[in-house]
Amino acid sequence: MTSHTPVSDQLFDRARTLMPGGVNSPVRAFGSVGGTPKFMVSAQGPYLTDADGRQYVDLVCSWGPALLGHAHPAVLEAVHAAVDRGLSFGASTPDEANLAAIVKERVSAVERIRMVSTGTEATMTAVRLARGFTGRNLIVKFAGCYHGHLDGLLASAGSGLATMALPGSAGVTEAAAAETLVLPYNDLDALEAAFAAHGDKIAAVITEAAPANMGVVTPNEGFNAGLSRITREHGALLILDEVLTGFRTGYAGYWGLSGRQEGWVPDLLTFGKVIGGGMPTAALGGRADVMDYLAPLGPVYQAGTLSGNPVAMAAGVATLTHATPEVYSYVDTRSTELSTALSAALDAAGVDHSIQRAGNLFSVAFGTSANGVHNYADAQAQEVFRYAPFFHSMLESGVYLPPSVFEAWFLSSAHDDAAMNRILDALPAAAKAAAEA
Ligand code: PMP
Repeated sequence: MTSHTPVSDQLFDRARTLMPGGVNSPVRAFGSVGGTPKFMVSAQGPYLTDADGRQYVDLVCSWGPALLGHAHPAVLEAVHAAVDRGLSFGASTPDEANLAAIVKERVSAVERIRMVSTGTEATMTAVRLARGFTGRNLIVKFAGCYHGHLDGLLASAGSGLATMALPGSAGVTEAAAAETLVLPYNDLDALEAAFAAHGDKIAAVITEAAPANMGVVTPNEGFNAGLSRITREHGALLILDEVLTGFRTGYAGYWGLSGRQEGWVPDLLTFGKVIGGGMPTAALGGRADVMDYLAPLGPVYQAGTLSGNPVAMAAGVATLTHATPEVYSYVDTRSTELSTALSAALDAAGVDHSIQRAGNLFSVAFGTSANGVHNYADAQAQEVFRYAPFFHSMLESGVYLPPSVFEAWFLSSAHDDAAMNRILDALPAAAKAAAEA
């Protein structure tokens, strides 16, 4: 493939001599779509600019955080002001409680919250806390759900492991793997059976509020409610991972779109991405009696030098303050517009597909129109090979998609008509490339 980005090529050649695969996070390496990753130097609104000076409409949005678009003026102003006061104090600051109060006000399932720095830390702490609180060891996760790179949850994880078709990770001990039960997604019977066999040993069930790391998968009607009911019946906890969906799919996250109305409440929730508005912040929260098991009140230890970092808190407060209900309805509308146009372009090119949707998150799966994708086996059975030519055609047209078919497409409130038109104009050629794959 000829490259029109010689500077990115050079930067990648250099990076490869310095970092494994030239990257600091695997999916960035373009492993499944081929070609050289683009090195980005700046971002503004819905656009990214690479080191060769090419501009792209961004449909990755930093893998979720940029709900308001890149470099939103109010967020930058808050960050600049925080930077001027100093970068990190190693002591409590007012904005930690300000961000905590915003989260609690929006997501009533959160009675107490702890800030950490990454989504992985949030889920890792939630798992340890569930074990400490229940005195049990086993964790149930669903195949295709990604919860970060903690040892025990890497089995049949989605995201980069799906992209690279890895069943799990080397370096995870058998003991850690043996404490995780992996079940098919959307299958409450499998969960009932697991509880019938091991019920008194299961500390928690962890699930993505709506899976978006095996492509997007819609939870079946009543699935999440069923998880809540079954865990409750057996004295286990339900950990709802909203690292990706939280404050992106709606004002109160995916739970706010579904669970709150259905009348069930998760015991613990995890957040990341949008909560930090692009700075490294994540959190776990939930029932006060469970959260109070964390040190310094309780016996479950967790700590972080940069937890609640003042610059990150300022970015989070500004982002959530500007993430109004109007922002969500705007992103919802744009998402419907784009997914509809995507489907029409693929239909016109004769490409069998399904649009996978959960709230304003969506992804495309190829060769799946008969049944859609409801679990990891469905996702893996699709015609993955159609994505690389589709992706590269879009990239050549100036649209930056996630470099894997197993990832969601992310929009923002900055995706205006001009940005949308550029995406829509690029779709027919990309659909044709997918058809010819
Ligand atoms: N949980 C979910 C649902 C995620 O999508 C991710 C990251 N994509 C994580 C956890 C891990 O977050 P981080 O990459 O910040 O460690």
